Amino acid sequence: MSKRVLLVIPPTGLYLREDRCQSVIDSHAISFARPPLVVLEASAILRESGAECFVRDYPASGRDWEQFEADLRSLAPDILVVNVTGPTITEDLRACQIAKSVNPDILTVAKGGYLFLYDEEVLRRFSDLDVVYRGEVDFRISALLDGSYETTDGYSFRKGGSLGRTQDAEYLDELDRLPFPARDLIDNDLYISPDTRRRLTVIQTARGCPSGCIYCLVPRVSGKRVRSRPPGNIIEGLEECVSRHDTHEVYVNADTFPINREWVIELCRGNVEQ
Ligand code: SF4
Repeated sequence: MSKRVLLVIPPTGLYLREDRCQSVIDSHAISFARPPLVVLEASAILRESGAECFVRDYPASGRDWEQFEADLRSLAPDILVVNVTGPTITEDLRACQIAKSVNPDILTVAKGGYLFLYDEEVLRRFSDLDVVYRGEVDFRISALLDGSYETTDGYSFRKGGSLGRTQDAEYLDELDRLPFPARDLIDNDLYISPDTRRRLTVIQTARGCPSGCIYCLVPRVSGKRVRSRPPGNIIEGLEECVSRHDTHEVYVNADTFPINREWVIELCRGNVEQ
């Protein structure tokens, strides 16, 4: 039987959760929620591996812990994946405590840039958290489905009375091998561009940055080598946003978008031609 996976943005405030600058959105001069790209990428990979996935973005939909608990009861997931930030982690991981109270056998997993550095500390502090996924989302996430995460790179986990930790994962070079984010799993009307009032989505075009700004998570989490999706693959993803999801506004997410001049020109030319 396929595993049921619930992936959540917990109801702990409107935050930028996937950017290098994790910050509360409500304090911005112009605030708007963006679709949870990393969660949707993880869902697409898990789904390709046979899982049944559900995504809930509680801050964007204005829903609370009570509704989270109701979702746990109605969806009955085998695995809960919580997307956390450094500033909200204590509140975010309440999700694991609630999940265990509903189903003590559920596997609770946390994912977020903060955990790349503080995985063991967090596992020690939060006894209802079973597994930490470290690093970028890629095919390794499927190891949650068959329990092979204990021998897969980039995981930290609770094992009996102690903690286990595998080595850091290599970065995925061919980003075009990743499926496009599972945008069908969210209510796309929750994410509206503040200026045009039309649906907004996010695409990721590259990962990594060669600079070494000491305050930035990117060199640690995504490495110093820039890995870009080929322009043709990005345009294919844009086409899917338009034709399948009726979404025409796109926020481009890349750690250092203009670093490769030829690649930028090829992408822009291809986009105009298309
Ligand atoms: S230049 Fe690179 S390392 Fe510096 S803040 Fe930007 S993404 Fe981070």
